[in-house]
Amino acid sequence: MAEGTPPPETIAHDDLCPVCHLLLFAPVKTTCAHILCGSCMAQWADASSTSNISHSSLDLDLSHFDPSYDPTYDLEANCPMCRTRTTASPDNALARQLEQQYPNTYEERRKEEEVERGQRVGEGGVEGVMILIGNRHRLVRGEETANKHDWTFFVRTSRPDIVEEVRVNLHPTFRPPRLVLRQPPFEVRRLGWGYFTIEAQIVLKEPYGWVKDGGERRHEGLELTWTLDFEGRGRQGRVRAKVRKVEETAGEGEGELDEGQDRRSPVNWPHLDRDE
Ligand SMILES: [Zn+2]
Ligand SMILES: [Zn+2]
Repeated sequence: MAEGTPPPETIAHDDLCPVCHLLLFAPVKTTCAHILCGSCMAQWADASSTSNISHSSLDLDLSHFDPSYDPTYDLEANCPMCRTRTTASPDNALARQLEQQYPNTYEERRKEEEVERGQRVGEGGVEGVMILIGNRHRLVRGEETANKHDWTFFVRTSRPDIVEEVRVNLHPTFRPPRLVLRQPPFEVRRLGWGYFTIEAQIVLKEPYGWVKDGGERRHEGLELTWTLDFEGRGRQGRVRAKVRKVEETAGEGEGELDEGQDRRSPVNWPHLDRDE
């Protein structure tokens, strides 16, 4: 308990994020002049777009994946407000102003943000995890028209230490079509002629569970799908998810929900099918 409860701050309507309806935190301004939280923009972009893998991509160096890397500013996405194709850049002046005007609320928002980004363990032991899913690609020129695609499917998380295994379902023509990857990097490399949709399931080590719809599902994996992309060097998408360390309890202790620990926003599980 801190030294007394700070007086409530009344937030002006204009200072609320149009997406999460909370005080704008680390606001960004889009090229279409909309202002929203940087994380709301990133979350939106996560769910609405994938990005090309390029030499400059920060995400490409897998061994140095930074869980707190915020891809907001690299992204082009459709604006959540007006749906035009847009990019966003941080509005630092506004951030400073909001922090001065609403110091307590801004600080609360910062803590929430750190939980989301996996930099801090939140209430009830909830931690944010970022997942990258995608494929690298190289075209192999064959005789006549028989070009082949050398592809590597990957699943990367900011917390490989808590991943028990990644189960992967390939196209049934591959032998074997089902794989279980137990060690990072979680990758599958194959040579093939056509693209298809890969199903992956990320299973966590005990005692961690994915937080889905407000409760954790301890023995369920997180299911994701990815359609291989053979343009250029490949493509990847991001998913933010939450995990929670489930404390051992007496009794069967399996999959029970802890009431009152629900976080405000249930996680979305976008199926990362390629944008057409
Ligand atoms: Zn927001
Ligand atoms: Zn807009």
